[in-house]
Amino acid sequence: LIKANIYYDLSNEDYSDVQNSRNFTGKVVLTTGSSSGIGEGIVKLFSVLGASVVVTGRNATEITRVAEECQELSPNKLKPLEVVADVTKSDDLNRLLSETIKTFGKLDVLVNNAGIGPTAGVRDKAFMKVFDQTIQVNLRAYVELCYLSVPYLDETNGTIISISSIASTHPYIANMAYEVSKTGVDMMTKALALELGPRIRINTINPGMVETNITGSLPPVIVDALRKELIARTPLKRIGQPLDVAKGVVFLASSDAQFITAANLFIDGGLVYNTPGY
Ligand code: NDP
Repeated sequence: LIKANIYYDLSNEDYSDVQNSRNFTGKVVLTTGSSSGIGEGIVKLFSVLGASVVVTGRNATEITRVAEECQELSPNKLKPLEVVADVTKSDDLNRLLSETIKTFGKLDVLVNNAGIGPTAGVRDKAFMKVFDQTIQVNLRAYVELCYLSVPYLDETNGTIISISSIASTHPYIANMAYEVSKTGVDMMTKALALELGPRIRINTINPGMVETNITGSLPPVIVDALRKELIARTPLKRIGQPLDVAKGVVFLASSDAQFITAANLFIDGGLVYNTPGY
């Protein structure tokens, strides 16, 4: 009888890592757009888990508010770095990175999150302006921050998580600029995963609708109708919260995800699978 070769062996598996995988003590996390919404949820959760965080956006008052709340949540009362920066400006992105390295000495986790969601149909006069603006914030800034961060992430075996959207695969009417930007983020991630492995892992989170300021540009009556429609179609029967997304980010940044790269993790309560006509 010929014995087959067995290539796996669970007899000496080390499970100690699993108990500790959510401990981010000593790790440095940079999250763009952390002055509100999903980004705020992300920096707060990483603070709870012991990380040093960078809080950034354009609104200095909100940055300070979030930073103070993060420090309060941090088990060792670590003070976040506060950086006012516009992600559409290369000088600001360079400064964001250099201040992070100057303050904390390294970077372990980059979360590309800052985003805008203005709507314009292709027949609207403002369409091209909205398109250029959306691509600049939601895609170009993500690419440039990856470009600037890779040398530092190479040193730490770091990881990149980009906040995409279910809009990357499921278009909504008169929302083309946003959808193209998010499809670009998904493809950026797959393409860079090939280049950056095995040292750096890179993934996306694709949320469904989450309660934040981003829908603030829409008239309340539209937001309310959208909310009702989406809850009805969502198998888990609610709208997402920033922490739902933050927990996914923590998972992808953790050692539990050490064999995960180039993935798109949909956090949408199952919404995309109940989209009519798809
Ligand atoms: P918010 O409007 O609450 O937050 C957006 C953040 O981005 C703010 O912190 C804002 O900071 C920052 N930001 C926007 N423009 C710039 C800029 N030019 N330079 C620097 N920072 C900027 O929205 P969300 O939390 O909802 O959005 C976060 C991400 O989640 C986005 O990428 C969005 O596309 C994505 N997403 C959101 C969904 C939702 O339903 N909410 C669904 C799917 C994806 P400041 O105002 O201080 O400049």
